[in-house]
Amino acid sequence: MKKSKYSLKFIIYLTVAAIAAVLIIYLSLTKIQTGSQSPVKVQRESYRLGTIVRITLYGNDGVKLDKALGGAMDEIERLENLLSVNIASSDVSLVNRASGNYPVKVSEETGFLIGKALEWSKRTGGAFDPTVGGIVKLWGIGTKKAGIPEPVLLQQALSLTDFRKVLVIHEKSGTFIKTAKGQRIDLGGIAKGYVTDKVKELLVKEGVSSALIDLGGNIAVMGSSPKSGKWKLGLQHPFMPRGEYFGIAEVSDVSVVTSGPYERYFELDGVKYHHIFDPTTGYPSQSDLNSVTIISENSTDADALSTALFVMGLDKSVSFLHKLKNIEAVLVAKKPQGTIVYVTQNFRKAFVLKDPDMKIETALQ
Ligand code: AMP
Ligand code: MG
Repeated sequence: MKKSKYSLKFIIYLTVAAIAAVLIIYLSLTKIQTGSQSPVKVQRESYRLGTIVRITLYGNDGVKLDKALGGAMDEIERLENLLSVNIASSDVSLVNRASGNYPVKVSEETGFLIGKALEWSKRTGGAFDPTVGGIVKLWGIGTKKAGIPEPVLLQQALSLTDFRKVLVIHEKSGTFIKTAKGQRIDLGGIAKGYVTDKVKELLVKEGVSSALIDLGGNIAVMGSSPKSGKWKLGLQHPFMPRGEYFGIAEVSDVSVVTSGPYERYFELDGVKYHHIFDPTTGYPSQSDLNSVTIISENSTDADALSTALFVMGLDKSVSFLHKLKNIEAVLVAKKPQGTIVYVTQNFRKAFVLKDPDMKIETALQ
């Protein structure tokens, strides 16, 4: 969730994207004025939450869609200002600055999300843990300062990583967060999912019934696709360049969230160090998984789970998934016999494997 200085390449990209978005809106509105019945599409892109956010809406009334789109973008900015560790005035930064010395009053939404993060921490036995903030900061992956931390500092951050020590206190005067001394919270593993849910809520209120919300790979689709009914979402191939898919998920009214080591990493002496940490070692998770996609109606849950399962590895993830209701998954793991794709039974019909070198498994346990 870095508010960085943009590179020239990125600014050019944004400018082109912005022009494209304006053109799309313009063309859409023109269509309406001529009374055409074909569906209107409006789309906008922006750099938010440390990633490229793209929202696409479909309907009949371009003016209404454009207003909803503006509202959605404002909502993302509002929530980023509450939840980002890279914004000094955010609720999370206030909590981290207090460093456990006193309880910090936060918005009801921040309190809710920290509560959710702690709930998933407990359910995943600490594979998900928002108190990895100290570890995340030391590694600095995705920043100019990325590097292997000093062992003493890493050990110290590791000893402070414990979700059980965070309290969410509900008082008449509001919600307060109290951490242990020195702890640092990072909601990077769950915030995009929460923002996606909130955007969806807003779009429903605005009367939008067909939409694709893409927060840097954290996707939610609403209604059906105007082209084909089901939305066909390509799942990024973990070993191939961006835009190459290993499979397609055919879905409607659901959130599809992927975690993978290829999303953010740095390379040193031929070793890739990625951004999803094992809270028991303080190092990037070394599990056998290369990509985890969770399909769930609720995007907050899908986001927390994609990160957690990535840390848990294939076998633990499969037995954990058996205990969950209404959560589907597509997991990619490298095994001695080759790359396997585990797909939960109920999702098998909705998934199309594209890479002939991968093999689907549906029943590992
Ligand atoms: P995601 O891309 O959703 O898997 O989330 C990765 C982000 O979550 C990282 O960039 C960190 O900010 C944070 N994070 C890393 N490891 C963990 C973990 N084990 N539990 C919770 N959050 C994590
Ligand atoms: Mg996540």
